[in-house]
Amino acid sequence: MTSAILPTYARADVAFEKGEGAWLVSRRGERYLDFGAGIAVNAVGHSHPHVVGALVEQAQKLWHTSNLFQVPEGERLAQRLVDNTFADYVFFSNSGAEANEGAIKMARRYHYVNGNPERFRVLTFEGAFHGRTIATIAAGGQKKYLEGFGPKAEGFDQVPFGDHEAMRAAVGPETAAILIEPIQGEGGIRSVPHQCLRGLRALCDEAGILLIYDEVQTGVGRTGKLFAHEWAGPEARPDIMSVAKGIGGGFPMGAILCTEEAGKGLAPGTHGTTFGGNALAMAVGNAVLDVVLADGFLENVRRTGLFLKQRLAELRDRHPAVLEEIRGEGLMIGLRSKVPNGDLVAAMRDEKLIGIAAGDNVVRLLPPLIVGEAEAAEAVRRIDAACTAIERKLAGETDTPAAAVAGAR
Ligand SMILES: *Cc1c(COP(=O)(O)O)cnc(C)c1O
Repeated sequence: MTSAILPTYARADVAFEKGEGAWLVSRRGERYLDFGAGIAVNAVGHSHPHVVGALVEQAQKLWHTSNLFQVPEGERLAQRLVDNTFADYVFFSNSGAEANEGAIKMARRYHYVNGNPERFRVLTFEGAFHGRTIATIAAGGQKKYLEGFGPKAEGFDQVPFGDHEAMRAAVGPETAAILIEPIQGEGGIRSVPHQCLRGLRALCDEAGILLIYDEVQTGVGRTGKLFAHEWAGPEARPDIMSVAKGIGGGFPMGAILCTEEAGKGLAPGTHGTTFGGNALAMAVGNAVLDVVLADGFLENVRRTGLFLKQRLAELRDRHPAVLEEIRGEGLMIGLRSKVPNGDLVAAMRDEKLIGIAAGDNVVRLLPPLIVGEAEAAEAVRRIDAACTAIERKLAGETDTPAAAVAGAR
């Protein structure tokens, strides 16, 4: 098929026409169980009536006025985020990378107004993913994203994942902040131990630098807490946090949350965005939060996540040639594969189940947070069938259509 879209993605040959809860219907009329949720974006599932209602209602009134004016829906959303987190202030953006850019600028500016402009360097963990802008590819530090795009932006240093002593040794007189994902998403569902998060908080306090969490993928209920760092307790709270993906439930939006102290450098005129926080995005963001903050919602994420992990652990025992390890928190689960992870994703897709490849040969399961045991059990059945198809192929029995297709990809 020819396409006028710049081919920066190797797309699967499926287009979806309609979504309902955890299900997607393709243009050919096939029903897929969506355990990718648009890469952890459709937090409340597809076509959630409350969110659709809020969008339609706002769309008929007002879409956008710019940040030169008051945006009451934004005031309300910011206040609710503040009431439910460590933060005192919120800045709304349009994407995860843009939220991280703002977080990095905020940290540098904090030291600048403190009279320490030499403090501009940001420390990150190897394997991190913080976005695709010039600064955020430097923050991630991964060669595959940096290659060919000119010199790596100055001021970003990587240390080995989870290595507290290496992080401590890397802090110097030019360090402004530590920026990490509490659980690496694109990196392959790699959790930073809670003790390490608390240790990083203490290290930042000791060194007078800022702790930034990138909760673009882990946030808004994904792990069974509103934000993943909450699992490590108040001793792991950040100064700044970036959020995106799930916060808009599919509407493009992001946010930077910060303490009053960390945000003090960003006075009027120092940072901005044309689209960020517009009335349409804010109406949707409030509606998503209504759902996620409702009684029992996060409890369901934790319960369903545990159920899914237990059932997947049984599957791993039954399919040792395909599945190596099950890991993650809540509904952010990684299947470390023994076969190339792209083959497992393809075999799952043949069973009409969507999962997403990540680093470390992992397949991510990131279902909408509204799923229950029935959908989780159905996903496990389909992964079981996908594993069986792969095993047949490994055994040389390529005569079953599913295995043949998986093998061809
Ligand atoms: C997806 C992601 C980003 C980038 O978000 P975009 O909206 O694609 O710019 C940044 N950080 C993490 C942890 C992510 O998962």
